[in-house]
Amino acid sequence: MLTIVMYHYVRPLAQSAYPRIKGLDTALFDAQLDYLAHYYEPVTMEDVLGALKGETELPERAIMLSFDDGYRDHYEEVFPRLEKRGFKGAFYPPAATALDREILDVNKVHFILAAAPDTGMLRQTLDAWIEEEAERTALPSLTALSAEYEKPFGYDDAETIYIKRLLQHALPEEIRSRLTDRLFAKFVSADEKDFAESLYCNAAELSEMREAGHHIGSHGDRHYWLSRLTPEDQRRDIENSMRLLDVIGASRKDFTFCYPYGDYNEATEAVLKELGCAAALTTKVGLAEITPENALRLPRLDTNHLPKESGAPANEWTQRVLGK
Ligand SMILES: [Zn+2]
Repeated sequence: MLTIVMYHYVRPLAQSAYPRIKGLDTALFDAQLDYLAHYYEPVTMEDVLGALKGETELPERAIMLSFDDGYRDHYEEVFPRLEKRGFKGAFYPPAATALDREILDVNKVHFILAAAPDTGMLRQTLDAWIEEEAERTALPSLTALSAEYEKPFGYDDAETIYIKRLLQHALPEEIRSRLTDRLFAKFVSADEKDFAESLYCNAAELSEMREAGHHIGSHGDRHYWLSRLTPEDQRRDIENSMRLLDVIGASRKDFTFCYPYGDYNEATEAVLKELGCAAALTTKVGLAEITPENALRLPRLDTNHLPKESGAPANEWTQRVLGK
């Protein structure tokens, strides 16, 4: 059994420009690395690929750390910390963020929520702009939208969920994309390219990490919900993502993939197989059983499933590994 941990933002939150961004503070990351180093044996993606082919065996308490979305955090905060401890990570940047400096809509929404003075004001702005849009396009009324989407979920209050759902999927794509851009310009930055430069790793940084022995895989080109695309469009996006591997000098042979949003279907798996993908990471929660049949469906734990305290006792996930 292999434990794969998933990380997104890792940054010194209090000192950062957006302390309200939902991320892992570097101090907690350090403490979690202490915990992991105590109970587990770090392995590389190359070790995992060898085990999937039956060429090598993984140690009993094997762990691999994975980092999604190619944030600059991974170069500035994560890379030096992993190097210091001799851990090698697996990194999954969407090609368009690293090469075209495009900001993913999902990231724009994170920063809009973290930058707006309060959610009430953000909501008022959004509602006013929806009413402007409704003069040109038939849209559900604000009352209907509120009745359907304004409900607390997870750690988020009702108003935050209302804003997220509207910008994620409730409004037609063209309108939500336009409103997201307007909110981003109003509350975060009018210069998207400049913001993308500071938010995401560039190709030179990713090359440097690869040369130091870290694995760089594909996380798609534009970070789509793949199961919502036709098989042809899925193939196009995945093939386009390969340009990043070419630029940073990673081989296309035995490339690995990480499904954006953990979303995929049979067509995605078929395309990946055809292109020679050796392993793919999901967001299904669990420990990974290393067999060839599971290669394109590897489950992971989120950082929040493991303690972020150096001396913490083994939690339930760790005990499952120790129990063997
Ligand atoms: Zn992602």
